[in-house]
Amino acid sequence: MSRSAELFDRAKGVMPGGVNSPVRAFRAVGGTPFFVARADGCRLTDADGKTYVDYVCSWGPLILGHAHPAVLEAIRAAAERGWTYGAPCEAEVELAELVRCRMPSLELVRFVNSGTEATMTAVRLARAATKRDRMLKFAGCYHGHGDSFLVKAGSGVATLGLPDSPGIPAALAELTLTVPFNDFAAVEDVFARRGGEIAAVIVEPYVGNAGFIAPEPGFHQAVRAQCDRHGALLIFDEVMTGFRVAPGGAQERLGVRPDLTTLGKIIGGGLPVGAYGGRADLMRMIAPDGPVYQAGTLSGNPLAMTAGLATLRETERAGFYETLERRTARLLSGIEEAARRRGTPLSAAHAGSMWGVYFTTGPVRNYSDAKRADTALFARWHRAALRRGVFLAPSAFEAGFVSSAHADDDIVFTIEQLDAALGEARAG
Ligand SMILES: *Cc1c(COP(=O)(O)O)cnc(C)c1O
Repeated sequence: MSRSAELFDRAKGVMPGGVNSPVRAFRAVGGTPFFVARADGCRLTDADGKTYVDYVCSWGPLILGHAHPAVLEAIRAAAERGWTYGAPCEAEVELAELVRCRMPSLELVRFVNSGTEATMTAVRLARAATKRDRMLKFAGCYHGHGDSFLVKAGSGVATLGLPDSPGIPAALAELTLTVPFNDFAAVEDVFARRGGEIAAVIVEPYVGNAGFIAPEPGFHQAVRAQCDRHGALLIFDEVMTGFRVAPGGAQERLGVRPDLTTLGKIIGGGLPVGAYGGRADLMRMIAPDGPVYQAGTLSGNPLAMTAGLATLRETERAGFYETLERRTARLLSGIEEAARRRGTPLSAAHAGSMWGVYFTTGPVRNYSDAKRADTALFARWHRAALRRGVFLAPSAFEAGFVSSAHADDDIVFTIEQLDAALGEARAG
C-alpha cells in the first residue's frame, strides 16, 4: 500500500470523505488522492516521493507557484514579530492601499479570512443598502458555500431557486434567482418581472467554477446598465479572477466598474485572506462606521497580510502578466493541437493564466454547454496525466492555473505528457 493510500484510509476515519474540502477526494475522476509532502515552484511532491507539475496551484492563490523565496522570506520575518495581534497593524493598511491602487473601484476595503466570508458579507451589505432581499446569480457560478449561493438554476429563464444542499431553508433559497451565464435576454426578463426586488447581481466575471467560460463582448456592460436602470447593485466576485486575469482583475480587463467586489485566493498569496470592497458610500454602512455587522477574530492577520503583500508586489514586475498569458496560450495550443491530431473534440479558452478545456465541440457559453462535455474521457485523461506527473484539477468543471514558476520547459513537458495521456484516455 502506498503511503498516500495509507494516509487516506486514516483520514477517512477522522474526517468526512477523508478531506477538508470535497473535490480533494477525487470522486469526480476516480482513484484516490495523493497526499502532499512538500511543494516547490510549479511542482508538488507526494508522500511516496512522486512529483507532479501542478496546474491546480492550490485552486488559484499561488500565482507565483509554491514556496516562492520572496514570500517565504516575508512570512518568516513577519512570524518573528508575532502572528496575530487582535489589534490593527501596518500591513493591513499597506495591503488595502495596494488593492485600491490595483482596483480603483474598491474605494474602501475590509479583509476577512476566505472568499466565502467576502461574498456572504457583500450580499448582506447589498441587501441593507437597497432594502431588497433577492439576489440574481448565474448558473454554474460558485460564490463560496454561503446559504444564499448554494442554489441551482431552474431550466431556461429564472425560476425560484431550489436548495442545492439540504440544510438551506427554502425561504432563503427562493430569494436567489438564477439565469444562464452570457444570456442577457434572461437577465432582462428577470428584471422586467422582479426588478424592484433585486438587491444585487453577483457574477464571476470570467466563470472559473464550471470549467472556464469567458463572457461574450458587451455582456457585463449590458448587465451593468440593467442594474443601474433598476437600482440593483453589481457585485463582481473576483475571488478567482482578481489579480489573475489582469493586474486589476476582470474589472480592468473588461472595463466594467462594479459597485462591490469580492476577493480571495491571490490576495493572500496562499494564506487565508478574503476581502470585499467597493463604493465608499456602501462600505461606510459596515460596522463600526455603519449598522451592517461583520467581524473576524483573525481578520487582517499579519502573516496573511504579509504573504498577500509579498505576492502582489512580485506580480508588479515588468512583463509579469504578459509572460504568464503567453505561456498559458502556448499550453492551450499544445493541448488543442494534440486533440485535433487525435480526433478528439475539444473546446479550450483562457484569460491571462486562468484556463480551461472541455471535451466537447464548442462554443461553451454557459453551464448547460459545459455539462455536454465528456466527463468520462476527462476522468481517464486526469488519471493518465497524474501517472505521467501532471496534476490537473480533479474535476472537468474547474479552471486550471499557470504560475510564474511554470517555465517554458515545464509547459513543453506538460504538453508532451498530456498528449500521451489523451492517447491513453481514448484507448479506454
Ligand atoms: C474559491 C471561490 C470562492 C470561495 O472562496 P473560499 O476561500 O474557498 O471560501 C468564492 N467565489 C469564487 C469565484 C471562487 O473561485
